[in-house]
Amino acid sequence: NLQDKLDRAFKVLKGQGSISEINVAETVKEIRKALLDADVNYKTAKTFTDEVREKALGQNVLTSVSPGQLLTKIMNDELASLMGGTVTELELKGNPTVILIAGLNGAGKTTFSGKLANYLKDKKNKKPLLVAGDVYRPAAVDQLQILGEQVGVPVYANLESKDPVAIAMEGIAEAKRNGNNVVIIDTAGRLAIDEALMNEISAVKVATQPQEILFVVDSMTGQDAVNTAKAFNDRLDYTGVVLTKLDGDTRGGAALSIKSVVNKPIKFIGTGEKMEALDVFYPDRMASRILGMGDVISLVERAQQQFDEKEAAELQKKIRKNKFDFNDFQSQIQQIKKMGNMKDLMGMIPGAGKALKDVEIEDDAFKPIEAIIQSMTPYERENPDIISQPRRQRIANGSGTDLQEVNKLMKQFNDMKKVMKQFSNPAAAAKLMKNMP
Ligand code: GDP
Ligand code: MG
Repeated sequence: NLQDKLDRAFKVLKGQGSISEINVAETVKEIRKALLDADVNYKTAKTFTDEVREKALGQNVLTSVSPGQLLTKIMNDELASLMGGTVTELELKGNPTVILIAGLNGAGKTTFSGKLANYLKDKKNKKPLLVAGDVYRPAAVDQLQILGEQVGVPVYANLESKDPVAIAMEGIAEAKRNGNNVVIIDTAGRLAIDEALMNEISAVKVATQPQEILFVVDSMTGQDAVNTAKAFNDRLDYTGVVLTKLDGDTRGGAALSIKSVVNKPIKFIGTGEKMEALDVFYPDRMASRILGMGDVISLVERAQQQFDEKEAAELQKKIRKNKFDFNDFQSQIQQIKKMGNMKDLMGMIPGAGKALKDVEIEDDAFKPIEAIIQSMTPYERENPDIISQPRRQRIANGSGTDLQEVNKLMKQFNDMKKVMKQFSNPAAAAKLMKNMP
């Protein structure tokens, strides 16, 4: 189909092809749009695309990948490295290890506390204790107790007390008594950031000296997630981020923005309401997810296609006005060389593919032609009609060819011009080229 043909056309000559400025500028615009659609904030998207442009320019393209695929690979790597590059494990030092859970109401703190207890028990061979630090809603304690029972982890609660600091300290003492080597302290949230909440959680931090403070944030809240992440980090200087609700069609853009704004590792992602729906955060997987969301690969390819169509349209305009000159001829040759090997290119011309199947076309077939064009003066290139016999001789001498070859090229050029005028179609010109040396 057409897409396959275009894909083949964009294969760049081995060793010669590289991603050009124009190529990148066009695609980078599309990529930035896709990132913004995926909830990445503007500044992050811009920094990222600038970086990709830098890395992509001048990169050699292998015949086996299209520039689009190569760009996507560069982006994937760059995204992954922006999000931390590698997996960041929990610090499980201290006995017991104290892990403080912080975040807004409804972010998923209590759910994550249960999941984390489950994960540490099953995957890390730990003996965790959950502590119910949300003193404002009795239902919050029930919720944690139900989850604890589900995953088989004990829960410390004190319904008599309204002091989160005291409850946390009691929880740690309880853990020491019972031989629990990890204490997970679930805390109260608020609908929005307020001083009282920040003071309370800071006090718990000071008292319990946690090895890990995990900030839990709902990935569906988009830009708000970034603001909240910053506000909590300013006060708590937390050790890691947990992104919840990444199941369904939530985009992962928040992951990139948060990481770039607070520069703290994302350690876990929540992918559902069940206790098993917890994943360690893999930067490269998230990169693919973000890129896959806007189907960036096809965006990249479409952008390239549009670029080539734009050039072709400009050329057609020139042909119609009979203004086709040697500069256009030369840029056509360059375009063809850029697009891929001659045979692939010919294969794209309707009807010509089969006929040319067995014809060997040298990739350096254009060398003498280019030499001849380069030996013309700028004025001659723009006005091919003035190239008289004496001028042709001079050009032949300058290009290291002979008069016969220059005459041949002039004839081919004029034939081509005629045909192009007739069809106003660059494909017809390409067909003619099969008669070239
Ligand atoms: P908290 O107020 O921060 O403690 O939030 P909760 O743990 O009570 O969670 C709020 C709601 O979000 C509950 O209905 C949870 O079941 C739901 N929830 C939490 N994490 C996830 C997740 O990763 N995916 C989905 N789909 N729902 C989640
Ligand atoms: Mg809760």
